[in-house]
Amino acid sequence: MKIITRFAPSPTGYLHIGNIRTALYSWLFARKNQGKFILRIENTDFKRSKKIFIKNIIDTLQWLNIDWDEGPYLQSERINRYNNVINNMLHNKKAYKCYCSKQELETNKQKQIINGEKIKYNGHCRNNKLKNDKKLPYVIRLRIPKNKYIIFTDTIRGKIKFNNNELDDFIIQRTDGMPTYNFCVVIDDWDMKITHIIRGEDHINNTPKQIHIINAIGANIPIYTHVSIITDKLGKKISKRNNNLNILKYKENGYLSFALLNYILRLGWSYGNKEIFSLEEMKKLFNLKNLNKSSSIFDIKKLNWFNKHYLNKLSQNDMINYIKKICIKNNININNGPKLENLYKIFYKRCNSINEIKNLCFIFYNNPNYKEIILIKNYLNIKDKIILEIFKKKLVNINIWSLKNIDDVLKIIIYKLNISFKKLAMTLRLAITGLENTPPINYVIYLMGKEKILFHIKNAINFIKFNI
Ligand code: GLU
Ligand code: ZN
Repeated sequence: MKIITRFAPSPTGYLHIGNIRTALYSWLFARKNQGKFILRIENTDFKRSKKIFIKNIIDTLQWLNIDWDEGPYLQSERINRYNNVINNMLHNKKAYKCYCSKQELETNKQKQIINGEKIKYNGHCRNNKLKNDKKLPYVIRLRIPKNKYIIFTDTIRGKIKFNNNELDDFIIQRTDGMPTYNFCVVIDDWDMKITHIIRGEDHINNTPKQIHIINAIGANIPIYTHVSIITDKLGKKISKRNNNLNILKYKENGYLSFALLNYILRLGWSYGNKEIFSLEEMKKLFNLKNLNKSSSIFDIKKLNWFNKHYLNKLSQNDMINYIKKICIKNNININNGPKLENLYKIFYKRCNSINEIKNLCFIFYNNPNYKEIILIKNYLNIKDKIILEIFKKKLVNINIWSLKNIDDVLKIIIYKLNISFKKLAMTLRLAITGLENTPPINYVIYLMGKEKILFHIKNAINFIKFNI
């Protein structure tokens, strides 16, 4: 049997971690078993479905390198197919037309409430052969076998049993002729020959309904895996409506796609203590057996840990391209300072997070904003001005721009002014970068170049002159 899985998002919001996790698991399961992975867009909710969300689905999968073998199929293009099946079901008496008016349904509901019964359709039209008046509006309902059970085995949860009497003859086609959600899903899974359905736990209650439809059309029941939910730290379920969880935001913010993928893989699946999985390893090792039963907590720290791991593995070229992207995103002009290639070594050692990269770029490419940091903290005073003036003089005299000559200048100043290296370094750091934390200052001076350093020192001296 060829394994066929699918990812079937509804384009009603941006894809979040939970969505993409079911996509990843479905995809890996297909790849591991040399099967097929299908992309299907479930857009029958015309009001809430939006084109931008379809684009978001495609862009997100592409960014994460999750490729599909078929699709994207759009449910909106398959309405005729669904309605053909429904017509056949009417013909075979697997479904029937229900002419009950809203009022009648409401009266029935009130009765059930008064009697303390479960609210469900009372089956009024189930055996009503007389009322076949085409002019009256109707819905089409599924004829559910009475007094039986639906039992299915969920890969994670084991046997799940639903009593049919819990369900009513639910609607499969609305008055406006549109098939309903569960119906479309089943016909698609049938037509696409899906063998394994991997989806969120929130769909578990749809499964018995879907199995009833499957039985009515005589299709095979696929193997179900309902993946446990993801919550935030407070235990609240993460949801599609929250734009902060949009996966592509992580891309914008500088996360690496394979770091995110590795993080999502581990968010609900384990393989011993192994944390790091290359794409090849994921495809080779993934199984449904090791999926977690309990819910998972989204933890940004862990995601950052993965990102750091993969950042440190980037080649020089990839790292430089990556830094360029971050600079563009943060409006940092890399032409305003040393060549990125020359900074590579310093970046390589210190770039553990996107913020660190951003800060380093600020140091080398942005002019320090003295007002913001120094004034608030009361840094840079008249004494610092003297230090800076001497430093400037000595710097102008350096003929050969080398780390050794810069170090010599620093030593002379320490000696002449009788100050500690710590004090000198902090003054220079603030004057040159506006920041308290930087890579070793001699190194920064060297990499930034004489001209740029003199420019910053002059500005700092002026700043002290006119503001302090
Ligand atoms: N369209 C559903 C969703 O976005 C998924 C349905 C399924 O996987 O069966 O939640
Ligand atoms: Zn009825």
